[in-house]
Amino acid sequence: MSAKPAIIPPAPVAVIGLGNMGIPMACRLLKAGYRVTGFDLSEPARRKFAAAGGDIADRAEAAVKSADVVIALLPDGRAVREALAPLQKHLKAGCIVVDMSSSEPLGTRALGESFLAEGFEFVDAPVSGGVKRAANGTLAIITGGDPASIDRLDPIFSAMGRSIFRTGALGSGHAMKALNNYVSAAGLIAAVEATAIGVKFGLDPNLMADIFNASTGRNNTTEVKLKQFIISKTFAAGFPLRLMAKDVRTADDLARALAVPVPLADTCAKLWDAASQSLGEAADHTEIGRYIERLKA
Ligand code: NAD
Repeated sequence: MSAKPAIIPPAPVAVIGLGNMGIPMACRLLKAGYRVTGFDLSEPARRKFAAAGGDIADRAEAAVKSADVVIALLPDGRAVREALAPLQKHLKAGCIVVDMSSSEPLGTRALGESFLAEGFEFVDAPVSGGVKRAANGTLAIITGGDPASIDRLDPIFSAMGRSIFRTGALGSGHAMKALNNYVSAAGLIAAVEATAIGVKFGLDPNLMADIFNASTGRNNTTEVKLKQFIISKTFAAGFPLRLMAKDVRTADDLARALAVPVPLADTCAKLWDAASQSLGEAADHTEIGRYIERLKA
């Protein structure tokens, strides 16, 4: 049996979720020559995509009905399940469903298997890099699922990302994404706490950042966030705190499901959850610095 063909332009693609990531990623597909129809529950989001040149549907069923590929870019795994499960009966035969959100890996396995059982293909392909890299097509894309489906999606992923990784079975991309963000989130808190201690002792925070960056304490936060957004108190890195809290919670829940003891991840997840509740929907993730500063001794 010959391999199924790759999905090349001008194939029809549906994008469900036109938020901070969905619009720039869908625009990369438009630019590559795909026929993209977008849907979002929010009308302003739909209008924004239409203004960027995309076709919009006023119902998810209408967006997906002739699509070769359906891409989800939704807040979390629950939203993906709620949006995608009812769409199964409206998909075109042979459709590939791709969850590019940062969802929980065990939920992805269950949802993906329900699509595979009906003869569709399903891949998880979360991304790393944020809105800027979504707009210029240089995201890292972490894919899990059948290698033959991922091969077919290669032209789509190449339009949106620069590094495309394959992590193995369905759900493994989502597991890797949550674990990456846990490491990033824990490193951020370590840098913020060390800086708070240093300042109280009398050290200069900017000099501390320079010394971390020339020493073994260097991490992504010390390099691109500590001076830029935390010490300067601009708190404008562009990745919402609510999403970081969700990703750390996903990593910690996965540890619990697999019975892996992770005391640091447990503490980290609680801290990000508390900061998210205290600072609200709109807070940038670097505002965890502000939250920690306000904690009482
Ligand atoms: P966002 O909150 O800006 O957008 C999500 C969109 O989904 C919203 O417009 C919302 O109206 C829509 N939506 C929610 N439920 C829906 C449904 N049932 N049907 C249709 N639309 C629905 O989120 P985002 O920043 O675009 O992130 C999307 C995903 O990508 C998340 O899982 C996030 O963790 C991940 N991610 C985000 C970034 C980033 O920098 N923002 C970076 C990497 C990964």
